[in-house]
Amino acid sequence: MSITDITHWISGTPDPGEGERRQEVYNPATGEVSGSLHLGDERDLQKTLEAARAAADSWSEASLSRRMAVLFKFRELVHSHTQELAAIITAEHGKVLSDAAGEVGRGLEVVEFACALPQTLKGEYTEQISSGIDVFSFRQPLGVVAGITPFNFPAMVPLWMAPLAIATGNAFVLKPSERDPSASLLLAELWKEAGLPDGVFQVLHGDKEIVNGLLTHELVDAISFVGSTPIARHVYETGTRHGKRVQALGGAKNHAVVMPDADLDLAADHLSAAAFGSAGERCMAVSVAVAVGDAAEQLVAKVGERARSITVGEGTQDGVEMGPLITPASQDRVRRLVTEAEQDGAAVVVDGRDLVVTGHEEGFFVGPTVLDRVTEAMSAYEEEIFGPVLAVVRVDTLEDAISLINANPYGNGTAIFTGSGHSARTFQSRVTVGMIGVNVPVPVPAAQHSFGGWKDSLFGDHHIYGPDGVRFYTRGKVVTQRWPAQNDESGASLNFPSNG
Ligand code: NAD
Repeated sequence: MSITDITHWISGTPDPGEGERRQEVYNPATGEVSGSLHLGDERDLQKTLEAARAAADSWSEASLSRRMAVLFKFRELVHSHTQELAAIITAEHGKVLSDAAGEVGRGLEVVEFACALPQTLKGEYTEQISSGIDVFSFRQPLGVVAGITPFNFPAMVPLWMAPLAIATGNAFVLKPSERDPSASLLLAELWKEAGLPDGVFQVLHGDKEIVNGLLTHELVDAISFVGSTPIARHVYETGTRHGKRVQALGGAKNHAVVMPDADLDLAADHLSAAAFGSAGERCMAVSVAVAVGDAAEQLVAKVGERARSITVGEGTQDGVEMGPLITPASQDRVRRLVTEAEQDGAAVVVDGRDLVVTGHEEGFFVGPTVLDRVTEAMSAYEEEIFGPVLAVVRVDTLEDAISLINANPYGNGTAIFTGSGHSARTFQSRVTVGMIGVNVPVPVPAAQHSFGGWKDSLFGDHHIYGPDGVRFYTRGKVVTQRWPAQNDESGASLNFPSNG
């Protein structure tokens, strides 16, 4: 198998950079090395940021209609390259092709929202707030924005950030995950083909050396980060200490509550899709089912049945529903947490630990796994498993379910399956979680709204994309103006200005 040389994208062109370090990129379905990634160093960082700074200065002056022409063209190009992007994602991430195309589709929604920026960005104007005085407010770009993204959505998460950062007039530097970096380069090519000036969208690969460089560099004005909680916390603390605006989205432990009055077949269908889709490597995956009262017995049986029927294999093959995990380390983590849960008294209802996919013996696979009678004290409950494992916790009442969720340090997404509007309303009002589904297991907001968790799932004041995205990538200005007549003699006084 040939090994692709994966370069940075600096000033509108592929660039191997000066950094001498490399990292191998794998096809997780086969375990083979597919790429050799250039990791940037401080010289590459400096070069990229200087290009971004220069590009930001002129791009911020481009009219909204010129920026929108690029955005509309980019939308068409991403749309027409969906299958190509999906193939790149599947080859490096492992998720099935239809799921990869789905993430491109969700990213496109943000591009479409950004295409409406002239409407969204309209300012406010108050005429004659005082005699002869008008006040108006508007928002301007920040300058250079860096986006640091995780492996699990190599196209969608960059598309949560870049379209709005660019539409609002900033230059954007993407530091993609080093595990599946290639989708970012096709996105870079499409931005260029759409007419975006060189330097407005750049890709700089690297590991913590580049991340820490971005967090502290004087040419960076803001950071959007998505990844695990410990790194999100580090990014937020370091970036803000260096005077940058930061939004840092972290990890998750998403609970879905199943009430006894729920349609249990519908709940089991949705729970297994939400737990095992993309091998559980979604920040909005349901990893804990909270079975209330006598919902538990039937729910566990139904989810177990569905888990056993899932076809696991290489994501490019027809009929495959679930692919491998991203690395052997992920495989080890998931197996370890299942084993520890079993040792601590959980029942392993469906066991994916020893799954071998014929013809892909070296792939990083773990099969769908269902754990029952999981408790809060178990490591499988405390840690983010980030694999195809659904842990069932049994509780007596809705109150108990809400207490469990609210005691959890994460607060990304949650859901309730119920036939009762009152239970749903109580739940949505009381849970300390940012995104809530009612009979919807994965409540990722549409692009007209913003995405964000609470507690350890998000550090910062702004959620990502949607209206909060526009606010994050811009800052406000308010103008108070008077245009007196030439012979105006109303004069000025030393008193504090008052309206009249
Ligand atoms: P990660 O935190 O390991 O990596 C994210 C980014 O941080 C990568 O670009 C990586 O290069 C960089 N990074 C890693 N270690 C670093 C360090 N020590 N110092 C500085 N930078 C570092 O996350 P991941 O494994 O790529 O992605 C999975 C995680 O992301 C999960 O925890 C998942 O829940 C989370 N996630 C959250 C959301 C959300 O919206 N809240 C969305 C997707 C993924």
